[in-house]
Amino acid sequence: MSQATPAKEAIQLDVAVIGAGLGGLYAIHRLRGLGFKTRAFEAGSGVGGTWFWNKYPGARCDIESLEYSYSFDDGLQQEWSWPERYATQPQILSYIQHVAERFDLMRDVQLNTRITGATFDGDVNRWTLATSDGEAISARFCIMATGNLSTPRVPDFKGIDAFEGKWYHSGRWPAEGVDFTGKRVGVIGTGSSGIQMIPLIAQQAKHLYVFQRTANFSLPAQNGPMDRERENAFKANYRSRRDEARQTGFGVSGYSVPTQSALEVSDEERRKKYETLWESGGSIGFLSCYSDFLVNEEANETAAEFVRDKIRSVVRDPKVAALLTPTDHPIGTKRLCLDTGYYETYNRPNVSLVDVRTAPIQEITPRGVRTTGQVYDLDAMVFATGFDAMTGALREIDIRGVDGERLGDKWVGGPMTYLGIMVAGFPNMFIVTGPGSPGVKSQMIHSIEQHVDWVSDLLKTASGRQIRRIEADAEAESNW
Ligand code: NAP
Repeated sequence: MSQATPAKEAIQLDVAVIGAGLGGLYAIHRLRGLGFKTRAFEAGSGVGGTWFWNKYPGARCDIESLEYSYSFDDGLQQEWSWPERYATQPQILSYIQHVAERFDLMRDVQLNTRITGATFDGDVNRWTLATSDGEAISARFCIMATGNLSTPRVPDFKGIDAFEGKWYHSGRWPAEGVDFTGKRVGVIGTGSSGIQMIPLIAQQAKHLYVFQRTANFSLPAQNGPMDRERENAFKANYRSRRDEARQTGFGVSGYSVPTQSALEVSDEERRKKYETLWESGGSIGFLSCYSDFLVNEEANETAAEFVRDKIRSVVRDPKVAALLTPTDHPIGTKRLCLDTGYYETYNRPNVSLVDVRTAPIQEITPRGVRTTGQVYDLDAMVFATGFDAMTGALREIDIRGVDGERLGDKWVGGPMTYLGIMVAGFPNMFIVTGPGSPGVKSQMIHSIEQHVDWVSDLLKTASGRQIRRIEADAEAESNW
């Protein structure tokens, strides 16, 4: 007769951190330094979060790496050298791994561990977490460093399971890479991920079909090897650059707050400015060029039309150019994409743009994609269809606060938070760059550092005063 195995004793922690991406790793560093017994639980087999999973061809950051990096340790920022202006995913991942090693963080990271549930016990003011392997964790505080773009979204296309070729999602790319040589490939989605991968897949595939529903504005990154002079100048002033960045809307230094309206200057002067910004690359220059760029449609239209002209001048087939030209939203009101050779790719004979706005995808068949207009035979399909953003990873955990209230139920009408960090009814739980925070609209690492610093200071103060329970009240949450 078999004996029931005794339930394993719960791991006892001061702080449980969920996720070991850029947020989770910094949280371990800060909290451990304050004397809290901390451990991070990470579903992946390595650290890095978004930069661990998004291994698709062309994945790279759209903020310059001298900015998109941790600022908390001057030794780290002085010694690290970025090879390119905008780092690739493998470069960013090796940077994150270096940070984990340099600060000895791995001893407090438990990999391959998915947290499935988190329940607050008001009698003892502790969280009990459950893992998919049946482990239990008891912690005074719980930090959700679960990321904003962690849960890939594949549209619910009829027939997807019957597809006889292989399909991939940008956010769950196989670590060993994918070879598209000689294949007929379909990419669905033209957001940042699609726009980054399309030029590279086109170089490999026998034929590439891009299924576009909405055209996006994309600007040239003008990426290249790191300019060492610029790097040295940056490093000589790193502290003041970081301080300056923290005072700006996007968290990026080097851009002063614009005071001039786009409508105050002559057409020629404006055009010259846009041309300079186009040539120097990146999106922040455009977003910060005129005071009314994002608040006056007429001002915005001057930049939108400049970019539309660029698209028309690059793409040789006028019908394709027209399809690629966004007309349904002001430029910069969706996150601007950065690319390397995106529009040029449509001049290749092995690339076809399929407009699924006028002829939507009806179903996936065993051999490819059927739209309302045509059938496309494919050997492989790539979904660059985005994420269940902001709330996806949190909804995947069964989070229960005071009196067993589920976070999913509370957020049924949309997420409600205080500062994007705390949730009324869920004491002692903190979200790093959660919904309602300015996180994703900024240079993410600054926002991550700010949130982790804020929470760490709060926990330190609370512990010093023997405070066992910290909670946002409903009114503060509603006002926020
Ligand atoms: P995304 O911006 O959400 O784009 C998803 C794309 O898939 C859109 O073009 C969308 O079309 C299309 N799509 C979705 N469902 C579809 C359907 N049923 N039929 C046809 N098309 C469909 O996703 P993403 O490109 O992965 O980007 C996600 C976030 O990550 C963004 O905030 C982005 O800025 C960020 N990101 C940043 C970088 C970087 O730092 N360089 C790189 C990649 C991603 P509609 O527009 O019509 O919905």
